Amino acid sequence: MKTIIEPFRIKVVEPIRMTTREERTHCIRETHYNLFGLNARDVLIDLLTDSGTSAMSSGQWAGIMRGDESYAGSESYYRFYDAVVDIMPFKHIIPTHQGRAAEKILFSVIGGEGKKIPNNTHFDTTRANVEFTGAEAVDLVIEEGKNPQTVHPFKGNMDVAGLREFIKETGAENIPCVMLTLTNNSGGGQPVSMQNIREVRSLCDEYELPLIIDACRFAENAYFIKLREEGYAGKSVKEIAREIFALADGCTMSAKKDALVNIGGFLCLNNDDWAMSARNLLILTEGFPTYGGLAGRDLEAIAIGLEEVLHEDYLQYRLRSTEYLGEKISAAGVPIVRPVGGHAVYIDAAAFLPHIPKAQFPGQSLAVELYVEGGIRGVEIGSVMFAGAAKMELVRLAIPRRVYTQSHIDYVIEVILEVNRRKDKLRGMKITWEPPVLRHFTAHFDYV
Ligand SMILES: *Cc1c(COP(=O)(O)O)cnc(C)c1O
Repeated sequence: MKTIIEPFRIKVVEPIRMTTREERTHCIRETHYNLFGLNARDVLIDLLTDSGTSAMSSGQWAGIMRGDESYAGSESYYRFYDAVVDIMPFKHIIPTHQGRAAEKILFSVIGGEGKKIPNNTHFDTTRANVEFTGAEAVDLVIEEGKNPQTVHPFKGNMDVAGLREFIKETGAENIPCVMLTLTNNSGGGQPVSMQNIREVRSLCDEYELPLIIDACRFAENAYFIKLREEGYAGKSVKEIAREIFALADGCTMSAKKDALVNIGGFLCLNNDDWAMSARNLLILTEGFPTYGGLAGRDLEAIAIGLEEVLHEDYLQYRLRSTEYLGEKISAAGVPIVRPVGGHAVYIDAAAFLPHIPKAQFPGQSLAVELYVEGGIRGVEIGSVMFAGAAKMELVRLAIPRRVYTQSHIDYVIEVILEVNRRKDKLRGMKITWEPPVLRHFTAHFDYV
C-alpha cells in the first residue's frame, strides 16, 4: 500500500513562527501555565481544537466572493439549502451562527423542567443547553465506550437496552427526543454504527419519540461505517450519510467541524410546529430565517464544504492522518485512548505519568511540557476541566482539517517521544487561582 497523501496542493501559505525553548518557557510562565492564555503566535502546532480551524479550499474561497448578502431570500441561502437537503433530507433547514445556537433554540422549544433527554454522550454545550432549560441530560453510551483501553469498532454506540429501561422508567411523555452524537466527541471521537442507529430508531418508533442527530462529524462517522460495518464497503459515503439522516427527525450541526468552515451551523427539523417556534426564536437572537446568524458568504462556503467533506480521498486522508499519529506514539509505549477516533488523539496522562497523582493534574503537566518542548498546544481533559467529576486524565490533540502536513505530524510525534524519554522528570501541578465557573479557561497553575 502506498502512502496516503494529502489530497490537495498548497496555493496559499500561512507562516508559523518558530520559537526557542527559552521563549516558550517565558510565555507559558507569563500565562501561569494555562495554554488557553497563550497568544496563538507563540504556538507552533496548534492542536487545541478541530472546531472552526479547517483550511478552506480554493472553491470555498471563490464561493466567499460569490456570497449574496441580500437580507432576505439570498441566492447563497438557496445554495446552502440545496447542499444540506441533498445529504440531510429534512423539511426545515434553519441556519445559525454555530452549533450551540442550534442547540439553544431547539432545547428552548422542546426542553424544560421535568424533561429528560438521552444521548450516547452529550457534548458539553449540548448538555449545558439542555440543563439551562431545567431539563436533564442523560448519557447512555455502551459500556465499551467508557474504557480507554477497550477496543471496539463502534465505541460511540448507544446502549439500546439501557435506553429502553430509561424510557420505561422516565415515561415517554417526559422525553421530548432521543439524541445520537456522531461521532461521539466527548467519548474520544468514536463512531456509531448504522445498526445501532437503526435499533435506536425502532425503539423511538415503538414509543413514538423523535430522533435528533448531533451531526457535527457525520462524514467521519459515515466513513467509519464504510470501513468497519458489514454491507457498507461498496456504498458511497454520501449514500451512507443519507441513510443515516433518513432514519432521523432532525439534526443540530456545527459547520465548524464537517462543513469545513471557520464559523456556522444549522438546525434541521421535520416537525412543523417545532420549526415555527424555532424560527420565531431565531429572529430574536440570530436573524432572519434565510441567513440565521451568518453572512451570505458563510452560507456559500458551508454549501461547498458539505460537498467536499464527502470526497472519499479526503476522508481516507483525514482518518488516516489521525490514526497515524496515534499509531506511532502508541508503538513507542505512549498510552492512548483506543482505537483512535476521527478527529483527535487522546493521551492517557494518568497512565503516562503514574508518579503524578490526579490531585496534581498529570494532564496539565503533560500539556505544558508538550508546549515547552515543541510549541505544541493540546488541551487537558481531566481533573482541571471537570474537577472531582473527571473519569479520566487525558490530553487531547485535535487535528484541524486540511491544515497540517505529514511532516508537521512527524514533528509532533518526535516531540511526544522526547517527552516520553524523560517523563519521570515531569512534576505535578497545583492551582494557585481559579474563577467561580469553567476554571480550565483561565485558572493559574504552578508546579508543586
Ligand atoms: C462543537 C460541537 C458542538 C457545538 O458546536 P459549536 O459550533 O462549537 O457551537 C456540539 N456538539 C458536538 C458534538 C460538537 O463537537
